[in-house]
Amino acid sequence: MDVASYRLGRCYRHIEDRVAAIADQAATLVTREMRTSLNPAQIVVAEERDVIDLVHQAESSAIGTTRNPLRRARPQLGHTTITDRGVRIIINATRLHQRHDIREINATVVHELVHVAQISRPDGRERIASNIRNNYGIDRLSWRDARAANRLMDEDERQAASLERLAQQLTL
Ligand SMILES: [Zn+2]
Repeated sequence: MDVASYRLGRCYRHIEDRVAAIADQAATLVTREMRTSLNPAQIVVAEERDVIDLVHQAESSAIGTTRNPLRRARPQLGHTTITDRGVRIIINATRLHQRHDIREINATVVHELVHVAQISRPDGRERIASNIRNNYGIDRLSWRDARAANRLMDEDERQAASLERLAQQLTL
């Protein structure tokens, strides 16, 4: 798996190293459990100040817009979204560094890879693209469709949270 960093300070390098060390094994655990292959994905490790810009950069390339989103997302431990050519995971090194727990890094990588698997389902990419177009005010979803989309996102979130347990099987 392609792991890169973006404007990452020296004291966060250990997060990038850990992510790079486990990424392939974590991807294998997730694909086996979810019985699916993953769309091409890139993992970017960044500090919190850059996380949301990297998310928006990926999203706007995916839907081909130069607009800004109507609402700015808030930085989490990890984000997974689509780009023009695949999927991008952004890992928040600042938050993980503060947690001081390698298990948090493992669980976050697994969690985000579950989202990659979800996006890799036949309708996954289009689903997230229509959410993004809605968030950028390009193609607003009806109230009913927005509600259905939120419900699916909650389901995906629950699945990702419950599959974080796969991180315990990492042998590295
Ligand atoms: Zn999630």
